[in-house]
Amino acid sequence: MNERDSEAVAAMLRARGYRIVDSEHDCDVLLLNTCSVRDAAEQKAIGKAGHVAARHRKNPDFVLGILGCMAQNRGAELLDKLPDVDLIVGTQKFHQVPDYLDNLRAAREAGVPIAETIVDIGEEAGSQNTIRDHLDTEEKQVTAFVSIQQGCNMDCHFCIVPKTRGDERSRPMEDIVAECRQLAAKGVKEITLLGQIVTSYGRRDYVHTGGVSPFVQLIEKVHEIDGIERIRFTSPHPRGFKDDLVEAYGRLPKLCEYVHLPMQSGSDRILKAMNRPYSSARYKEIVDALRAVRPDMYFSTDIIVGFPGEAEEDFEQTRALFEACNYDMAYIFKYSIRSGTVAADLGDQIPDEVKEHRNQVLLDILRKNSERRNASLLGTVEEVLVEGPDKTGQRFTGRTRGNRVCIFDAHPRLVGQLVPLRIDRVSVSSLYGELVLSGVGETVDA
Ligand code: SAH
Repeated sequence: MNERDSEAVAAMLRARGYRIVDSEHDCDVLLLNTCSVRDAAEQKAIGKAGHVAARHRKNPDFVLGILGCMAQNRGAELLDKLPDVDLIVGTQKFHQVPDYLDNLRAAREAGVPIAETIVDIGEEAGSQNTIRDHLDTEEKQVTAFVSIQQGCNMDCHFCIVPKTRGDERSRPMEDIVAECRQLAAKGVKEITLLGQIVTSYGRRDYVHTGGVSPFVQLIEKVHEIDGIERIRFTSPHPRGFKDDLVEAYGRLPKLCEYVHLPMQSGSDRILKAMNRPYSSARYKEIVDALRAVRPDMYFSTDIIVGFPGEAEEDFEQTRALFEACNYDMAYIFKYSIRSGTVAADLGDQIPDEVKEHRNQVLLDILRKNSERRNASLLGTVEEVLVEGPDKTGQRFTGRTRGNRVCIFDAHPRLVGQLVPLRIDRVSVSSLYGELVLSGVGETVDA
């Protein structure tokens, strides 16, 4: 989501005549988009901003901005630590950044010696509709993130996001579909629909029709767009993952067989303390239902280890459910105290060594799962969407429908094409192979 927000700001700035440079060392304006979900993310951003602020001394035109969640969470208080920041812009004001930059530069040109820091962390009705601009890059754009909603009204007791991202608000379906159509016209083949709780999409604005939720209606509409070949979304909430969504996987072939479904904990006691309104049994039921519809389904999840009060037996239940779900990918977080959340004030905080140990236990399982999954793909032919050159620039990279990263040799004109890849070598994280190009020639616009 932060990547998407950053891209939209960059697109707006480019439309204003700003140029995006490759290296941060060459810029006059440096905007840091920030995350607050864990303390480590905030500390990293503060460290980076402090380091960069020194450039004001060398370049009087230099502008340093802090955007996004940490700006929202801390506001002007950031100036205590970072007095040289010029711009602090919260999560509902990204679209104001071009104006604020113009104002800052005008003030400097008018000779105002030290322009005051601009701080805007206000709420703005309709701000969910402002993340819609995409950057035209020189490389062909193959995949795109599309924001469908902002904010979150859940009250997970560990989570700062409702504070940093505000109330849950959905974009109109027709705007989202129009954006996807434009992306398809530019050659985008894969869309990832983004929101904090996508399963709640449109619940206040649209009605269920024939048992189909607004979110599934949205997926159906995107599914109809010619040129869009793959649809993903992140993140759903187990509470809203109902039969209509499970069933959509059986009838909408563009919906990739890859689901990111945050579990957080496998202990019902801890789920309750987290204020996550589902049980471990219900969670497993969703996973099983999805596997029944698509036996080849890939799963990923978010887990928090070391939530306050998490006893050894609670963690054991998480470990067991984690193992039973057989994840292909997972984001495992050590619980981090976020001030202002309910969990911050709970006693029984878990020592760091215990969190670290639990983290490692799950990572070991994940590594084995990932190895096993990749080994099972050896010798098979997978459909890969070619995204572009890999990190080395020598080969190409793309992903399977199950979201596995592939590395292979290809012709640049295959970028943006769906091609069959025969997997002949695997590592924990990647698949390597050769394109099976006989018969594909016709589909490649030579
Ligand atoms: N609503 C989104 C994003 C939430 S933040 C979603 O459901 O994906 C992403 C993940 O960060 C959460 O799922 C949770 O696992 C983790 N997280 C949130 N707050 C945390 C905290 N205080 N400490 C550690 N991990 C946290």
